[in-house]
Amino acid sequence: MENERLELEKEFQHLLETHNAGPVDRALMTKAWEFAKLSHGDTLRKSGELYISHPLKAAQLLCDWGLDTTTIIAELLHDTIEDGGATREDLVSEFGEEAANLVDGVTKVSNLRLKGSTDNVFVETFRKMVLVMAKDLRVVFVKLADRTHNMQTLSALPPEKQKRIARETLEIFAPLAERLGMGLVKAQLEDLAFKHLYPEEYTKLIEDSKPFYKEATAHTDKMRTTIEKALEAEKIHSEVNGRQKHLYSLWRKLSRKEIDRDFEKIHDIVALRILVDKVPDCYAALGIVHALYKPVPNLGISDFIAQPKPNGYRSIHTKVFGPGGRIVEVQIRTFQMHAEAENGAAAHWAYADAKSKGVSDKILEGGHVQVDTKLTWVKELVAWQNQLTDSEEFLKAVKFDALSERNFVFSPNGDVYDLPVGSTPVDFAYAVHTNLGSYIQGAKVNGKIVPLNKTLKSGDVVEILKSKNIHEPNRDWLRFVVTTTARRQISKILNK
Ligand code: MN
Repeated sequence: MENERLELEKEFQHLLETHNAGPVDRALMTKAWEFAKLSHGDTLRKSGELYISHPLKAAQLLCDWGLDTTTIIAELLHDTIEDGGATREDLVSEFGEEAANLVDGVTKVSNLRLKGSTDNVFVETFRKMVLVMAKDLRVVFVKLADRTHNMQTLSALPPEKQKRIARETLEIFAPLAERLGMGLVKAQLEDLAFKHLYPEEYTKLIEDSKPFYKEATAHTDKMRTTIEKALEAEKIHSEVNGRQKHLYSLWRKLSRKEIDRDFEKIHDIVALRILVDKVPDCYAALGIVHALYKPVPNLGISDFIAQPKPNGYRSIHTKVFGPGGRIVEVQIRTFQMHAEAENGAAAHWAYADAKSKGVSDKILEGGHVQVDTKLTWVKELVAWQNQLTDSEEFLKAVKFDALSERNFVFSPNGDVYDLPVGSTPVDFAYAVHTNLGSYIQGAKVNGKIVPLNKTLKSGDVVEILKSKNIHEPNRDWLRFVVTTTARRQISKILNK
């Protein structure tokens, strides 16, 4: 155990070095480290390692995502109330209200207060986190780092527990990371959950996909050299890489009807990624790529720089005919956009933190958009937490409305709305404004009049045709609306 402790001290020193903050922050982090060590004592994890290794490794993740000192301190302390005998008051007096709130936000609701099952404890604990999220979004990062390390060490738990935790991860935490634009964390969580939830499919997919990854990599490598030379000739500073599609996402895509488990139909199993300095360079690089390789008609270009995804993702995607007529996806973005695509809201947080410490805008800019910290879906989560007293209904709203797969639809003037798959023009109207629902007369999708129960697709332009006067919603709408906001709003007015 002494060796292990020495090893952990070294890891903590590494955390201090990589966080690279001033002496005040270093002292605070060291104090939190000492406090956590005392609190967890000689307790071991199921894996046989010292318990304290868990908060330390989770804190290192947060540091790698670029989060601030308070969040890292909260991570070091995150299990001290639940497992280490500390109280909220201890944490307030030693580390202040902010850090204590973050720890409290990820602390399990006690079993004793609830009659219910494990599921109930999970929902109530999740509700508590949502309450803290409304005040301080950083609690989500504390939770995601905790969950990521738990998933990395999941094999130590009994099989039943592994499955439950893996399912929660797939249904709640990976989508949460996705909504926060944290692409890397999402991919990691999904692959770890996939491995534990569907072990046979996971092993088989690794075997089956190997030759395809290999062949696609060889193919894109050839293109990479050609593109690099062309960019250099135009004096565009760039980095060109191949990125492999992660396993779970490959598995999902293979199961789509139109793909029908045919690896040949997956054009982005390995995509080329071009990173450049500035936005104009992205479009210049796009021109260079299209001059070398013809774009594929109909599959076309998606310009998420001009029109970012609602989670903030920005990049240009184009599908081109590579050598031998093979279709390859090329993604083009700035270095800054790339950092944001991998670490999402965490990257924005790091930006705001650096700014508050007086780092000049010049250093920080490079094509940065201000993050909307009052994310609409966070507001929705908080509203449901207040309105939906029934645990099951709340969990359904969370899974379906806030975290499910989304379609991106547009208003006629180009505003983007992301709605759950299956949404209709009526859902759209209530998403735009709850009042708009009372003026629905009809709807147009892509310029054509459609029935109000039409299922919307990504990319649709939706226009609500308004009546002159306010009127009650139609009871029939309840049969096809899918969003909680629309359903609740319609019922509320009809029940008056
Ligand atoms: Mn933990």
